[in-house]
Amino acid sequence: MRIRHLPETLVNRIAAGEVIERPAAAVKELVENSIDAGAASICVDIREGGKSLIVVSDDGHGMSREELTTALDRHATSKLSGDDLLNIASLGFRGEALPSIGAVSRMTIRSSVALSLKGEGGACAGVREGEGQSWLLTVDAGKKSEPAPCAHAKGTQIEVKDLFYATPARLKFLKSERAEYGAVKDVMTRLAMAFPRIGFKFTHNGTTIFKLPASADPAERLSAFLGKDFGDNAMLIEETRDHIRVSGYAGLPTLHRGTSQFQYLFVNGRPVRDKLLYGALRGAYADVMARDRHPLAVLYVDLPYEEVDVNVHPAKAEVRFRDPAIVRSLIVSAIQSAIRQCGQKSSNNMFLLRAGDAPCADSFTAARSLTGPARRYGQMPASSGNLAEQAHAFYNPSFDVAPSARFEEAPAQKDEEEIYPLGAARAQIHENYIVAQTEKGMVIVDQHAAHERLTYEKLKSQYAGGSIASQGLLTPEIIEIGADSVNALLAHKDVFSSLGLEIEPFGGGALAVRSTPAILGNKINIRQLVIDLADELEEYSTASGLEERIHAVISRMSCHGSVRSGRRLTNEEMNHLLREMEKTEKSGQCNHGRPTYISLSLSEIEKLFGRK
Ligand code: ADP
Ligand code: MG
Repeated sequence: MRIRHLPETLVNRIAAGEVIERPAAAVKELVENSIDAGAASICVDIREGGKSLIVVSDDGHGMSREELTTALDRHATSKLSGDDLLNIASLGFRGEALPSIGAVSRMTIRSSVALSLKGEGGACAGVREGEGQSWLLTVDAGKKSEPAPCAHAKGTQIEVKDLFYATPARLKFLKSERAEYGAVKDVMTRLAMAFPRIGFKFTHNGTTIFKLPASADPAERLSAFLGKDFGDNAMLIEETRDHIRVSGYAGLPTLHRGTSQFQYLFVNGRPVRDKLLYGALRGAYADVMARDRHPLAVLYVDLPYEEVDVNVHPAKAEVRFRDPAIVRSLIVSAIQSAIRQCGQKSSNNMFLLRAGDAPCADSFTAARSLTGPARRYGQMPASSGNLAEQAHAFYNPSFDVAPSARFEEAPAQKDEEEIYPLGAARAQIHENYIVAQTEKGMVIVDQHAAHERLTYEKLKSQYAGGSIASQGLLTPEIIEIGADSVNALLAHKDVFSSLGLEIEPFGGGALAVRSTPAILGNKINIRQLVIDLADELEEYSTASGLEERIHAVISRMSCHGSVRSGRRLTNEEMNHLLREMEKTEKSGQCNHGRPTYISLSLSEIEKLFGRK
């Protein structure tokens, strides 16, 4: 058998399988080319999910006759000047997209070099006279035509018909119109989010999906995709370590979705899909969100080009960090410190009423942020006192009363609602909700959710501090739960023991419980606790780390030790709970990411009554 070189068309068809495995990838490559060409506005029209037609028009610098023919050669690119694959500032660099797309479809390119630009409108303005400067070239299943002069407005327009018609095997693998459209929309969304300074228009089957003017404010572009909801309930993220910077927005723990679809990562401006982000977010929110819920986040990682390899995958969808662990830990720590700062704030269920507050800006958290690095109220002394004391100082600005007079006034003599961010308990309703009056309005607290959070944080800090106090039972409790569960629990005997729960085999399918964590009190249902823990471990068996498992166990335990809904509380008990919440980090949501309280300001109440 003779070894021969494959004809270029065939090589390109093979490459097409990797570079542009579906219409969304073709759209991505074409739009990236437009961005690299310095376009100010980009128009994308597709039909049937991009399967029958993709048209991308831009007002970038265009291509001359020679450039047009060279652009279609394999590995021909204008974007790498030397041989340095480490310093890549453009989106493209492999010189594969155009020849690959051309090899498997019917492609028409019209392009005008920037010289012919005479101030005509945007990319979508239509065809304009530009004789001699504008060229048209077609490629049909890899067969190139000679460039011919044509009439074309500024920039480049590339039309791709019948993608993969030249490779029937690939064509068969395309999904439904709906699925392919979904993938194109995702690509368009990520690119439009990454480049707010470029105007984008996107249509499908003639229907406009989005039309976004260029904007200097990235937040404006984000809210176009994530909604006002996100803007109102997001924490500002910002942290730099060495030469790596993480910035952006992450949703409050009480804002979550059923999929991880709303997590966006941009590395040096390039939209990237990376498991690293998913894992880092999971870690960052581990103890404030249920496992089957997913936070929303838009994060920008900026680092020196040589710290990240973008040449990992033909479709450039993934990147490789030189040191992924550092990037991951930076993301986790940036988000966790934001959660700590905003942790007592729960997401705002009344966002319809609310006038676009900055993250963390309500009075409760503003008082709290005095302790945090942000310290928005710089003129205030950095008190080392507890939240209540700081809150008191916060609510009593010095111009209110003369300093000397203020000093004499003991906080205890003030009404509680004026002193404390969560105010004074006024009533308990439906045996689960505490209604408290605050200085500027009211809060409603879910007593079970709140108490669960407090117990959880206490257990966690006791655990971190070395040991959890355990309380021996007078007689061991014997629990029949079946051999499988018994074995699963006994395998973690040491973990439970470090958490204050002593268990021993009792023969057959039974366990003996000798002691329980003291903090859970002595009214707990031990049997139910053990059954829940067995379930928890079963769910968790899939390769999760020990630390994660311990937190899950602590979370389950705290649910058991918490005041149940349905229990009457005295006024003292209610106020005690409110004061504990003020002292506890992350008390704004329970372990499952549900809010522990909601607040209504007087002005919101007035709006509800139409008084304002
Ligand atoms: P790459 O983007 O990796 O360089 P492509 O095959 O996508 O490879 O494009 C090849 C070349 O064609 C680019 O380097 C660029 O010079 C030119 N080109 C492609 N699309 C455009 C466009 N929309 N405007 C101007 N030049 C373009
Ligand atoms: Mg390209």
